[in-house]
Amino acid sequence: MTGRTGGLISRLAGGSGLTEAEYAELTAGRDGEAASLLAEKADKVRRGIYGADVYVRGLIEISNYCKNDCLYCGIRRSNRSCDRYRLTPDEILECCGEGHALGFRTFVLQGGEDGHFTDDLLCGLIGEIKSRYPDCAVTLSLGERGRDSFKRLFDAGADRYLLRHETADAGHYRSLHPGEMSFENRIRSLYDLREIGYQVGCGFMVGSPGQTPETIAKDLKFIEEFKPDMCGIGPFIPHKDTLFRDHPHGTVELTTYLLSIIRLIHPPVLLPATTALATIDPRGREKGILAGASVVMPNLSPTSVRKKYALYDGKVCTGEESAECRDCLSRRMESIGFRIVTARGDVKRR
Ligand code: SAH
Repeated sequence: MTGRTGGLISRLAGGSGLTEAEYAELTAGRDGEAASLLAEKADKVRRGIYGADVYVRGLIEISNYCKNDCLYCGIRRSNRSCDRYRLTPDEILECCGEGHALGFRTFVLQGGEDGHFTDDLLCGLIGEIKSRYPDCAVTLSLGERGRDSFKRLFDAGADRYLLRHETADAGHYRSLHPGEMSFENRIRSLYDLREIGYQVGCGFMVGSPGQTPETIAKDLKFIEEFKPDMCGIGPFIPHKDTLFRDHPHGTVELTTYLLSIIRLIHPPVLLPATTALATIDPRGREKGILAGASVVMPNLSPTSVRKKYALYDGKVCTGEESAECRDCLSRRMESIGFRIVTARGDVKRR
């Protein structure tokens, strides 16, 4: 580690942001020593706010129908080999019931942009989840629905919304998405969600095709400015039915490095150690938590559909029952000195 890199890390840990050029330098100049130092500082900051608690979210993958055609994604509409499914409201409620009994107090409804899930249908479903489980938070991750829809779903009881910005570089965004999708709309959606009152999550893939230290620097600057309540980052992993099938996956090393930096940029952020990270490394989730992540999101979807919700190849944890997943994760967290807690796990705004 050069003295300059050490200086940048000290400034970050001291609570000041960096310039975009400095974020790029910190990213490009990384080595094992810088990574250890960042992880140590990030761990301290995280423990100061959340202690050794790891929040758990039950992920329910409600549909793999999608009207979008994101170039990297396995459930993009032009993928004819994707075996499509959608869960019924009763099936979703059953997942919530199972999850609640296992101690989950947040349910994340995630899916492709599926027109079948109208506002009316979702409002009824969200209302039912909230009335059956008033002690739980509902998080949505259903893409860009427009401000009016976001508002209706919020009024129906949804608490949080995850919408990864994917990349904060407009040119890079264009290279990952079809012409009909726009970077401006993605970012505007995030500000709309915040104004409506949601706890909001942004995020991006690590190692996506065309990503550079400069585009990552823009992501970090965006996070510094937007101050998201949640931030999902995980490695890009190729899917065999996409044009990026031969592109290498993102690394554990860069993902954990960025997790530490993001923790220091915005200390209260709820930061998951993602399934994608566990997919490229059997100890990926543990490594993510040790680098400063504070959330895990095990799968609560019916096992019959988990393999079909294939954003990328090789996804782990598609065979086990929800209870097994929860126990396995508890053991993993305990093995590194953390504990999964039964709580909504809202962001601690300081
Ligand atoms: N339709 C919703 C949910 C998308 S899936 C939305 O638009 O927000 C959730 C996330 O999975 C995406 O935001 C993307 O960052 C990630 N993802 C998609 N394809 C991926 C791939 N090949 N490798 C890793 N992550 C991927």
